Amino acid sequence: MEIQGGIPVRQDARIAAPAILLLLSAVLAVPAPAAETTATVSVRDSGVSTHVARYECTPGHTIETRSFNIESGVRRYSFGYSGCVDPSHGDERPSSEGNFGMPTPTRCNYYAAGFLGIIINGKDAIRHRVIGMQTLETGERGSFQALFAHPDATVGVRLLMYPDGNHVLSHIQWIPREGATINSVTVKLITYPSYFTTFNNRVGDRHCMTPRTDQQQVSRLDLVAGEDTSLLFYDTVFDVARGEGEGPCGVVIGQDGFTGGHVDIAAYPVVSYLDFDPAAGQAKMAFYDFSGMTNAEAMEYFAQHGRADLERLVATDFRPEPVQKLTFADFEAQMNELLAGAADDGEALRPKTLQLIADVKTHSQSSAAGDWEAEAKLAKLLIDSEEMLWKLKVFALLNKE
Ligand SMILES: [Zn+2]
Repeated sequence: MEIQGGIPVRQDARIAAPAILLLLSAVLAVPAPAAETTATVSVRDSGVSTHVARYECTPGHTIETRSFNIESGVRRYSFGYSGCVDPSHGDERPSSEGNFGMPTPTRCNYYAAGFLGIIINGKDAIRHRVIGMQTLETGERGSFQALFAHPDATVGVRLLMYPDGNHVLSHIQWIPREGATINSVTVKLITYPSYFTTFNNRVGDRHCMTPRTDQQQVSRLDLVAGEDTSLLFYDTVFDVARGEGEGPCGVVIGQDGFTGGHVDIAAYPVVSYLDFDPAAGQAKMAFYDFSGMTNAEAMEYFAQHGRADLERLVATDFRPEPVQKLTFADFEAQMNELLAGAADDGEALRPKTLQLIADVKTHSQSSAAGDWEAEAKLAKLLIDSEEMLWKLKVFALLNKE
């Protein structure tokens, strides 16, 4: 056997290429997707960029930015991260307008420069060192995650879309550091519903509507767990029906661990503080930008679909699908069986295969303990290893004769 371009080739190839292709197609026999599920979700990661601070922090400091685009068959969202990495800040990552924004579909609604805070024991996790950001899945679902080093906890955010979805589902997790006690967890959402009123010297009429009540600016809306399952942020002046503004935005709140909170309905930003039981360790919510829709259409959407969307949110397993499907014992047995079946032809792949089995074992143990970083690595390993798996399968088939 010789190696050509890293691919083992039989010198005494008794089987011609067409036959191998035939075998491959038998091995790869994947059921054709149903006609109605042609839409997929794409995720684009810009990678890390840096620039010199202008307004974000002390001039001269270095600002790190990164963005993720996630697009279903229905809507495209983008998320932008920004944080100052100057060593003088230690593990903090200041950014004057916020660290995690949603510039698309609209810069208003969920604020482009920073709409999300995860306040644990009074400190925002999103404003601390990034442990990692990566795409988890594309295709039948699309998702990415970001992990932050809060002084008292490792905090993760996963954002996911379904191909038919007009919204982004999110899963937030906090794991206390050893010796740390978490006393409070509040998810803070900053919105400018439909239009940047004050900035443009205009006066609007902000509202927050839940299934239970509807309240107008300027006021404080106290949230009731178990009842306020969705919040719609809208403005009666800046309504698409009147030819003004972008349209409303909203959130659906998973009720597990949700204990209440409040919404500050100001004349300009509308800021929500969603409180969660620290012991729950996680929270789920879904973000909607209804840009292009009238207030009435958005209200109608929540009335018609709010309940079903909440059910799907709660039922969603945010782990990447290859990880969900993995049973390590079965994986190990399958790989060993393929190695044995591939016999001499598999020899060249043996060290890599054994290393893969060892890595999958390590990462699957860590991910079972809730380590999202390990789970992301595990998902990548499983996806990347598919090529090796098919090679072994072909060798095993060739040796069967
Ligand atoms: Zn700085």
